[in-house]
Amino acid sequence: MKLNELKLTNPYLNLPSECHDRVNPSPLHEPFLIHANRDVAQMLNIDTDELYSEDFVRFVNGDYYPEGSDPFAMCYAGHQFGHYVPRLGDGRAINIGTLNGWHLQLKGAGQTKYSRSGDGRAVLRSSIREYLMSEAMHGLGIDTTRALAIIGSEHSVYRQEWEKGSIVLRVSPSWVRFGTFEYFAHKKKFKELEALADYAIDESYPHLKDSEDTYIRFFTEVVERTAKLLAQWQSVGFNHGVMNTDNMSIHGLTIDYGPYAFLDVYDHNNICNHTDAYGRYSFGNQPNIAEWNLRALMAALSPMIPLDKMEHAVERFGTLYSEHYIAIMSGKLGLDAVEEKDSDIIKQLLGALQGLQVDYTLFFRTLSRYTGERKEILSLGLYHTPMHDWLDVYDKRLAQNESSETERHEAMLQTNPKYVLKNYMLQEAIDAAEEGSYRLIDDLFAIAKEPFAEHPQFERWAGVTPEEFRNTKLSCSS
Ligand code: AMP
Ligand code: MG
Repeated sequence: MKLNELKLTNPYLNLPSECHDRVNPSPLHEPFLIHANRDVAQMLNIDTDELYSEDFVRFVNGDYYPEGSDPFAMCYAGHQFGHYVPRLGDGRAINIGTLNGWHLQLKGAGQTKYSRSGDGRAVLRSSIREYLMSEAMHGLGIDTTRALAIIGSEHSVYRQEWEKGSIVLRVSPSWVRFGTFEYFAHKKKFKELEALADYAIDESYPHLKDSEDTYIRFFTEVVERTAKLLAQWQSVGFNHGVMNTDNMSIHGLTIDYGPYAFLDVYDHNNICNHTDAYGRYSFGNQPNIAEWNLRALMAALSPMIPLDKMEHAVERFGTLYSEHYIAIMSGKLGLDAVEEKDSDIIKQLLGALQGLQVDYTLFFRTLSRYTGERKEILSLGLYHTPMHDWLDVYDKRLAQNESSETERHEAMLQTNPKYVLKNYMLQEAIDAAEEGSYRLIDDLFAIAKEPFAEHPQFERWAGVTPEEFRNTKLSCSS
């Protein structure tokens, strides 16, 4: 469809007025397209030729209103670093309507009622990070919000220094967060709470609509999706960095990309967020925090659902998470089936990777071509000993596999990415973009989309992270 044929709907506006606030975007000065995602355009049924038109830039800049547009910001609360903040909301994201079941949102399009002291803007570096990483997570098969396009501008935005404003048009099947429920529960607005639950079920769990015990089944499935998502994050080495309840999706998606990181060398205790002094959101603590967040959601839903039933559901989180995690990891190891002792094999491996300071992604990619010849694997670590020991165990375990070595290699090469977007790679693209060159964004987008492909022209990004850039921390200021 052409842009002027689009017809947007706004189902969220059917909720009570406390849930949202109508607000028009404030366009950036001198906007220009940096990148557009053709797959997402097709998913939305937008003609890909339209992506390079002037109207498209205006559309992403909040300066072109397709039919049905009725822009608004959503209200939510949340536990930030464990402390309840009663009112957050879309402080810099403006919803512009729904297409094909995808809700479109302009991140960085100016102030809303929920901006508090913020300017409603997003700077170029943070928009590049969100734009590329959401595509990378999708490429890895992990549920996530996505993005249609990113624009730059000449609009000055002040952070620690003057930077340029940017907008990402991001899309999601749901923007409802755990914190959206907390907002109404803590205000004791139970009518709105129930309306929100009905809305979220309709949007994200429609198969539960006419069942008995719809609400408890809803919470149970949120627990299940969250457990699966966390297992995916841990297995691929993704550290979100700001798992506040307002950044937790009720749909089970990865949302709100901030100071995240992919692990460079494996470190269970990796902290990627500069403000996270005590490691609340460290890599290894993510599953615990997910459960903590589910308990905050449980408290918010307690006026509607008996607590003992939710307790029963949330208690399964640990088991569900472990089952998913072990299944994914045994796939990464090329095992045909999961056996009881595999969790020990995985633990032993992670201990070796940590001790030897091995690059997490490179290790599994190298293992995907393992033939019994150990030299290449051993050369990835500082020493040989614990890896030798682990390979002894692995060789024995592989002997139980029924598939051939070739089949195992093929499956592993489709399971263990050659490329993940490490922070040093993103930083290189950001530095170039800040100087006006956007080619690296195209390159990183190509590997984000197809992380399992070889891409020989991008080989330099498949190796270990240069030492000075390993496991660095980023600030939230974006
Ligand atoms: P985040 O860390 O991006 O998840 O944001 C946490 C909260 O702060 C959300 O309510 C955001 O909308 C709000 N926020 C973050 N940056 C800004 C900004 N520049 N202007 C207004 N609100 C912001
Ligand atoms: Mg957020």
